[in-house]
Amino acid sequence: MQRLFCALIMPLAILIAWLVVGAAVQAWSAELVTWTHTRQVGPFVIQANFDLAKYDKLFSELPDLQRELVRTLGIRPASSAIDVYLFSAEEQFREYTEHYFPNVPFRPALYVRENGQPGVYTYLKPDLDIDLRHECTHALLHASLADVPLWLDEGLAKYFEMPAAQRAFDHPYFDDAKWKWSLRLGMVRSIESLEQRTELADMDASDYRYSWAWVHFMLHGPEAAHRELVHYLAGRESVSSSAKLSSQVANAVPNASEKLAQHFKHWQK
Ligand SMILES: [Zn+2]
Repeated sequence: MQRLFCALIMPLAILIAWLVVGAAVQAWSAELVTWTHTRQVGPFVIQANFDLAKYDKLFSELPDLQRELVRTLGIRPASSAIDVYLFSAEEQFREYTEHYFPNVPFRPALYVRENGQPGVYTYLKPDLDIDLRHECTHALLHASLADVPLWLDEGLAKYFEMPAAQRAFDHPYFDDAKWKWSLRLGMVRSIESLEQRTELADMDASDYRYSWAWVHFMLHGPEAAHRELVHYLAGRESVSSSAKLSSQVANAVPNASEKLAQHFKHWQK
């Protein structure tokens, strides 16, 4: 229990509640979860309350995720530890996150930074690998950059959540015929419109899809677009910036929305 509280820096309000309720809370939390299995891979310190042997292959790929982010985005590798907490059941995860992060809306996986300490939280489920890569991508980006705009953060996490061999051609987004038609009809959400989203609650399914699509375009489309992405992220390494990627891409790639539609029209193995 003590190790758990050392690892998690509690928000002040929760700390006060903890002091007030005292031993009763300690007994309740201790029953809630005990971390029995641990792994350390790259910057990730993984703790779980179930046997992790089955997941060693998945964990062994996490340092590759970091190498890919460094290689494709030109960012620095994380220089300090990232905590990962894995729960054996959704109910435990829900109770735990509602207790410690009462202001964070429920989601099946979370990346939370508390007083500078990054933490990834999720539970055992069939798509654990996807959620883990998604949240670890957020954690690695925030370990290297002073800030990342929400849409780009989510677009990159959607791209890198897939296994490495499926990222370029086999993301489930490719299978959506309705979306392909909307692209052909020129109904592209621009980077500029995505930049208006500042809260997760503002992001609808289509925003996630177009955030991913722009990331795919910048990684696999015109070299100039990729260059702008790398340049833009380099500018946020140590300081926040008000620079807009939309204007940088617009300068480097005229008619970018049209080119994005063309990119997906012709994209195939
Ligand atoms: Zn996300």
